[in-house]
Amino acid sequence: MNGQYHVFPSPQSSCDKDVILNILSVLTDLLSLGTGRRIHYVISKGGSEALLQALLTAATRTEPPDHSTLLPLLRLLARVGQRDRKFGLKVQKAEATDIILSLTRKNLGHHLPLTHCLWVLRVCASNVTTGTMLGINGAMELLFKVITPYSKRHVRTVRAAIGALAALLKSKSNSRRAVNRGYLGELLRLYQDWHRNDVSNNYIYIRRGLLLCLKYITNIQLGRETFLGSQGMEILFTSVQDCLSCKNLDPVIATATQILRKCYPKENLPVMTVRSSYSFPLPGNAKAEPSCEESEGDHESDGEEEAEKDLDNEDEQSKEEDYDLETDVNKLKSRAVLDRPEEELGQYESMCPELSLNFQELELESKEEKSLEDRTESLPSTPSHFIPSATSVKHPNCRWRNQSVTEMGPDPGEQDFKVPLQSWRKKEECRWDQSNEKRDIAEAAWDTNFCEEEDPARSFLFALRPLPKDGAWYKKMFCPHCEASTSPCPGGRLESSDTARNLLEKHQGVVLFHSPYFYAARAQCVKSISGYRDLAFPDFWGHQPPPYSKPTLERKHGVQRDKVLDDVRRLIQPDDVIGRTVYDLDEPSSCSRPAAPDCLKFFSKFESGNLRKAIQVREFEYDLIMNADVNSNQHHQWFYFEVRDMKLAVPYRFNVINCEKFNSQFNYGMQLVMYSVKEALQGRPRWIRAGHDICYYKNHYHCNATAGGGMRGKFYYTLTFSIKFPHKDDVCYLAYHYPYTYSTMMSHLDILEQNRNPKKVYWRQQTLCQTLGGNPCPLLTVTAMPESKNRDDLQQFCNRPYVFLTARVHPGESNASWVMKGTLEFLVSSDPIADLLRKCFIFKIVPMLNPDGVINGNHRCSLSGDDLNRQWLTPDFQLHPTIYHAKGLLYYLRSIGRAPLVFCDYHGHSQKKNVFLYGCSIKETLWQAGCMVDTAVITEDVGYRTLPKILDKVAPAFVMNSCSFLVEKSRESTARVVVWKEMGVLRSYTMESTYCSCSHGLYKGLQLGTQELEEMGSKFCLGLLILHLKSLPCSKEVMAQAALLLDLEEEITDRAQRRCSNSSLESDDEPPCAEEIDYNTDSSVDGEEDFSELDQEIQECLSWVEGKTEDEGVTTEQTCSSRALRRLYISSQPVPNSTTLPLGSTALGLYNGFESSPV
Ligand SMILES: [Zn+2]
Repeated sequence: MNGQYHVFPSPQSSCDKDVILNILSVLTDLLSLGTGRRIHYVISKGGSEALLQALLTAATRTEPPDHSTLLPLLRLLARVGQRDRKFGLKVQKAEATDIILSLTRKNLGHHLPLTHCLWVLRVCASNVTTGTMLGINGAMELLFKVITPYSKRHVRTVRAAIGALAALLKSKSNSRRAVNRGYLGELLRLYQDWHRNDVSNNYIYIRRGLLLCLKYITNIQLGRETFLGSQGMEILFTSVQDCLSCKNLDPVIATATQILRKCYPKENLPVMTVRSSYSFPLPGNAKAEPSCEESEGDHESDGEEEAEKDLDNEDEQSKEEDYDLETDVNKLKSRAVLDRPEEELGQYESMCPELSLNFQELELESKEEKSLEDRTESLPSTPSHFIPSATSVKHPNCRWRNQSVTEMGPDPGEQDFKVPLQSWRKKEECRWDQSNEKRDIAEAAWDTNFCEEEDPARSFLFALRPLPKDGAWYKKMFCPHCEASTSPCPGGRLESSDTARNLLEKHQGVVLFHSPYFYAARAQCVKSISGYRDLAFPDFWGHQPPPYSKPTLERKHGVQRDKVLDDVRRLIQPDDVIGRTVYDLDEPSSCSRPAAPDCLKFFSKFESGNLRKAIQVREFEYDLIMNADVNSNQHHQWFYFEVRDMKLAVPYRFNVINCEKFNSQFNYGMQLVMYSVKEALQGRPRWIRAGHDICYYKNHYHCNATAGGGMRGKFYYTLTFSIKFPHKDDVCYLAYHYPYTYSTMMSHLDILEQNRNPKKVYWRQQTLCQTLGGNPCPLLTVTAMPESKNRDDLQQFCNRPYVFLTARVHPGESNASWVMKGTLEFLVSSDPIADLLRKCFIFKIVPMLNPDGVINGNHRCSLSGDDLNRQWLTPDFQLHPTIYHAKGLLYYLRSIGRAPLVFCDYHGHSQKKNVFLYGCSIKETLWQAGCMVDTAVITEDVGYRTLPKILDKVAPAFVMNSCSFLVEKSRESTARVVVWKEMGVLRSYTMESTYCSCSHGLYKGLQLGTQELEEMGSKFCLGLLILHLKSLPCSKEVMAQAALLLDLEEEITDRAQRRCSNSSLESDDEPPCAEEIDYNTDSSVDGEEDFSELDQEIQECLSWVEGKTEDEGVTTEQTCSSRALRRLYISSQPVPNSTTLPLGSTALGLYNGFESSPV
């Protein structure tokens, strides 16, 4: 084909003309067969240029232009041009814009050629510069002549004109011109006319085309203002109401909704300042003002000075990602640096008591703990609890835990929500009865003070949040026998410890590894910025995972547009908008004020609580604003608050209106979690996934420069959900994810320490350091006690390699804590695998790297307003003490030649599914960045891949395909990269756990609960043991034991894996979501790049003309005879029953079908 297009002869004779027609016919047939690949080939060989040249010749050399060649040529141009991304530039180069424009102008009265010109015009205008030029030369005026006034004559031409106009309006200067000439109002009127007259929805494409024009015009501020001034919001809103019931009209509704969202007048968030309600004075002369991080690069850039640039950026994102990769080999190579004086490392010796263990100490200890040991024999640590058996069964809707196939009951839907009390309580109840002594200890803790240095004034001020106030329910619950009992004054605080004791007598001990006594005792010692005095019920009472896991929520068709339209209704029909602030952290008086009747009450001043403000919008709808991280003005994501006084069976709508992330798993089936106090007191103390009609989209709130403290034009997003509460007048808690507070962790450690078998488990809890807020950050050491006191065993004890684990550096990632909980419980358990594992490693664990953040309800940062996982390169000992000392301890271990074999920092990932690891590899990073890698120079141990590969096999939630081992520049100060580089730890990881669900394996399509997260933590331990066996020398004894245990284990996991055979599918992308492209208002993504649209339009027009000519009764506007007209229509259909091309007798490219049909 090469060179073919240089030889379009100039049509001087009729013979030449036939040649041209033949060539066009061949081309048309060639290009209409098969896929777009042929067209792209033609483009790559200069096809667009040749066709443009031919057009110039045809249009200028003959007067009047010869339509028999011109029309097929224009069609070819439209088809080829729309697929040629450089077409606009080529048109300019060929100086063809004027020709096309004047050709259009000349044909104003001739609708068929005019339609053809308009198609080409539309394709030319897809390049913004070319479009602008066309606009300057009067293209829009021309198009307006075609589309106004409203008329159903020549709809094909009108359609083509609207398509061309929409393309032109992508140029902002054209949009300005259009607004200035009053076209916006005309477009609105035209849209109304079509909307009104198109009763049977035959002209949807025209209505949508007009909306697209409006959509592009309103990309500029002037457009939006004029739109508002022309009652555009009302017009579109009203018209959409008529369309909602008809599914065919979805494209119209979607575009109208986009315009409504975009034009909704921008507002500042209804808060005085976006800075956090909490501030914390920093030590020294550290900056009190937060740095204004640019988050997610999502800034407003509208206004008149917008750059007119080509949208030629489809590869930009991946390029940006690659650009972030570290390609400097020297920076990738491990280097032993020290960020502090070497003599400072000495202080960490005391944090490794296991290395200087002596016998007296051991002996003393075992005597001391003997009595305790006796009562811990019955501890809840059966192996089956930790390593879930293969009898877990997958059910299409719900999966029951610990239930065999034969036990599968009926569909566990609502009715299982009300499992009878005994069925799940029995076992644990006994357990608690057996350990009465332990309860005594805990009760003592409740009474006396747990903390060493305690403000005496505060300790007795702490109180549990008031219980539900519904009198009848309360009486039934607490005084079932005393009919005549007086009102228990349930609205007040549980001030008398008697009431609390009654409560505990009645219901304690239902939750494994949780004690309300321990919790309350620990919570008293917590130092929070606002001085919390309340205990949230769920944290106090505990959480017992429900016996089923819930599938991801199916997204209802059109849920987002319905919510958006409901938001727009506030503007159009403001009558039912209440707009009353019902909770305000910044104005405490608002909380004590008597609440309005028929209004929910909110509260969030408790550990990990986060809710800044609640505004009642309508009777059952509330806008919620989250608090920014302390000393910061951003990072809104985590929420956790109490709500009470609800009605039964009413869906309440909540809108969290200051979210910041660009997208959310809430758009892909994730639900939030809810805890009902009434449910808990009736024996179902649990966080459950809740909420329906959930979606996440960009809203009309923004943050201006002054309010944002320098952050310019930041957008916000809304998370909206509806909830029907299970009881009336209940007290419920709603949270972003299963809460796990600092006090929960501290009391959990207390219980673990009590519960371990001290003969077998070596356990030390020390304080790594005090946090900025004055809370101790615990450091744990866990390993097996030495086998005996003989020298060899002690030697083995001391020489075990280290595993260093950390979690919860990001406070909003509570899932990380649940995984850590699983790890810890497994490590101290009596499971034989745990026993073996303890003999293989010494575990150093910092279970919560950011206690202050967790306590104060932050999402990302510490009290200094810093992301602690970006401080590992040079942590400040005052501002980032936990990081400074965790790193110090690692330095110390390295300095004595004991750098850990594995380092892992547990996190949560809010955008992705599955559990996976991030690791570090020089080679993979360089390869990904496209660098030449001299493998002779760079050698790399691929051992970093072993652990994730093992986890992929043993942990059902873990997916190897989601892992990545690239080192990004933007991550150079994270724990993972610094520990890898500075400590030389090959296996240095970040473990990310989804908040949502898995895309693969056993848990595919199910939302992860705390049980699955905890299981991940225990499976991680199993993975470590297998790693040890695979990569380190082991004693025969260990090997034999392991062989025995793991054979069994492997068999189990094999079976589990086989059940879900699709587990190896690779797919990082989200499943298609009905409104995926629409959660944002970004106009550059609207799926219009679909070439089939214009192709189809051309095709429809062709068959229409063919149909017309076949029954010549209908008068057409054509100037040429029907026969001539038919000659113009070179087939774009594949030739039926023939593989030869229609040359020879059909040289004029007549459609085969015509020949045989009578004329
Ligand atoms: Zn994180």
